[in-house]
Amino acid sequence: MLFSLLREVRPPPTGVPVTSASVRLFDAALDLLVPVQCVGCGLQHAQLCAACREELDRALPRAARPHAAPPGLPEVYAATTYDGAARQILLAHKERGALRLAHPLGGALARAVRAAVPTGGASRSAPLLLVPMPSAPATVRARGHDPTRRLTLAATRALRRAGVPARLLAVLRQQRAVADQSELGAAERLRNLSGALTVPRHRRSLLGHGRIVLVDDLVTTGATLAEGARALAEAGGDVLAAAVVAATVRRDGPAPEDRPDGRRGGRPGAAYPG
Ligand SMILES: [Zn+2]
Repeated sequence: MLFSLLREVRPPPTGVPVTSASVRLFDAALDLLVPVQCVGCGLQHAQLCAACREELDRALPRAARPHAAPPGLPEVYAATTYDGAARQILLAHKERGALRLAHPLGGALARAVRAAVPTGGASRSAPLLLVPMPSAPATVRARGHDPTRRLTLAATRALRRAGVPARLLAVLRQQRAVADQSELGAAERLRNLSGALTVPRHRRSLLGHGRIVLVDDLVTTGATLAEGARALAEAGGDVLAAAVVAATVRRDGPAPEDRPDGRRGGRPGAAYPG
């Protein structure tokens, strides 16, 4: 009982700086004390069971353009849909500090990046620059880590292992507070975010050193990614595409794979080769 309660404990919300090392130690210590269960399906004795891992690994990335996409939204590719095990894995990583899940999630994000960028999109002299969407500093403190940045780093490493030159470039900053997005509709999200992000002046020269792919954990309305692309463009960066781990399922229209001609969504030939 005590330990099941501990599972729900979060790092202190304010004032106390919590390093990711301490969160990692907390996570590892709990695994020794508490019989773990799969975050995807509840199976005992594995934080992520083989079946849920395979479900994530085998998902085929596809174009994920939101319905009524906001102006300026780059092409978005998602590794999977935001439901089932993928949703649970993302939530456990983001909200409950299950940091080891960054590895499989980063692999999925890397596959979405490769789907988003046509073959030959990167070279040693012009690597892919993966720019994560920033979280508010207070949110990072409350969670004890920055999930999107961590996933982006894991994706960068997965790309490099696959021979694709890639770097993490965390240059976006919030320049004013924004309201919690979760209860807002598409138009309200756009208003909430408009002009919220910026690239600090002293970091702008970094944008010319590669080809920019904007990354996030999720796409819902596309408002966040559109604001990221706007801020990067304002700073002189040219966003090639956007990639996310998961796209929320559209309920107001057919998903790309349900199109009458039976073709999957996305650019022909842009799918991840194997
Ligand atoms: Zn499972």
